[in-house]
Amino acid sequence: MNSPDVVLRGGRVIDPETGLDDVRDVAITGQQITEIGCGLLPAAIDVDVSGQVVTAGFIDLHSHTNEIPGLRLRVLDGVTTAFELEAGAVPVDHAYRHAGAEGRPVNYGFATSWALARLEAVAGLEVTNNLDFLGNVATPAFQQAASPAQLRAIVDRLAADLSEGAIGIGLLLGYSPGTDPGEYLRVAALAADAGVATYTHARDLIEQVPDTLIDGAEEIVRAAAQTGARMHYCHINSTSLRHIDRVLDLVGRAQAAGSRITTEAYPYGSGMTGIGAAFLAPDRLHERGLTPPDLTYAPTGEQVPSTDRLRELRTANPAGLAIIRLLDENDPADRAVLMRSLTFPDAVVASDAMPLTWPGSVPDPMAWPLPPGAVTHPRTVGTYTRALRMLASDVESGGPVGEFGPLGLTETLRRCSLLPAQLLEDHVPAMRCKGRLQAGCDADIVVFDPAAIADRATYADSTLTSVGITHVLVNGTFVVRDTGLVTTALPGQPVRARPR
Ligand SMILES: [Zn+2]
Repeated sequence: MNSPDVVLRGGRVIDPETGLDDVRDVAITGQQITEIGCGLLPAAIDVDVSGQVVTAGFIDLHSHTNEIPGLRLRVLDGVTTAFELEAGAVPVDHAYRHAGAEGRPVNYGFATSWALARLEAVAGLEVTNNLDFLGNVATPAFQQAASPAQLRAIVDRLAADLSEGAIGIGLLLGYSPGTDPGEYLRVAALAADAGVATYTHARDLIEQVPDTLIDGAEEIVRAAAQTGARMHYCHINSTSLRHIDRVLDLVGRAQAAGSRITTEAYPYGSGMTGIGAAFLAPDRLHERGLTPPDLTYAPTGEQVPSTDRLRELRTANPAGLAIIRLLDENDPADRAVLMRSLTFPDAVVASDAMPLTWPGSVPDPMAWPLPPGAVTHPRTVGTYTRALRMLASDVESGGPVGEFGPLGLTETLRRCSLLPAQLLEDHVPAMRCKGRLQAGCDADIVVFDPAAIADRATYADSTLTSVGITHVLVNGTFVVRDTGLVTTALPGQPVRARPR
């Protein structure tokens, strides 16, 4: 028998699917895990990982960071696959070709984009790779109802992308409050026909906007029941806020009745989006209990002082990203609200990772360490290590006492790897070999020190990388080795749905 390429020797191997949690060696040959056992044959690369946890790499269903520099920050947080499913891409094949031509440190995949299809059909824009997406969704032309002919054009565009292997349909519904609820139902029906899921940024809740066309949570539940589509409720934490109990109760009852609704959350109290977003209009801030100083404008770092300045920034650069203080992580009541989203049964951990904002021109994508000055939301950099620290009861992170979590380590890891794989695997066959630490599965592996693992990125210093991630392999190739990034490694592969 040939010796394996790599053996990770003597680590605490955790596989949430089989329940394995014991000391084992893990052998890797080529891109696969070939054997898990004790006393395995030596390998050319034989790495002592005693005292470390060895588990499947984290699978992010919600990443808007799709370029090499941001993805490298993500690898150092344990991510091995990053999907852009909420905003999505159009044409989806261009997104795959762009990523494939440059190479990526992690596996990648895209949904098709209702918002981009809508910009094309309703606002009359030409959709290209360089389209200023957040800048354009801020325009009233995007936010109006579609005519029957425009709706047909949207559906045709989405269907064309699905036939090219798009993983699902992303719907930034919350950015287009004028959308007819019938349009959402039509797109959900398309997803049901195609056997893929929708990924929705929900419309406003009725508690926030009493005259909304339909309550955002009820709209998802209704569409799931009416069409039978699988519907993923994106960042349920940040759209539900202090109404989380009502929303989770509704979702839970719909799930119990057989609707195929899934949820995700990220472990931060603040959000981030383009400052021109519909729900950040000066006369609408109060709907979420916000005032201008709750916004920090990322390109300059300024806390927005006044309504006038907010108006100015929205006009000058609607796509400019702003941190939005939604829940106060230091307030116990708000923190409990956040925890309810994260600990909801089968809620996936997903980051909503944001693109990096650079102070000047965008640097060489391969430059590492990152040139100084980039700004993002800390969730881009620290979601998974932070989730482990907040949720897992047996991670000894050195964080504040009392922070250690309500879930076991295996259950927390399940929400970071196995569950997202399972959400996709019936229509994305490649996912059956991901999210698991088992022989025959892809060697997408994270090795971490349970005593040291922690996020470090903050709102003030948002690109500080996580600590405690010792090794990361993607398709059998080290992308992080001995806590350092392997700067030449771009082993990520495209993941597509099974074409119809
Ligand atoms: Zn969103």
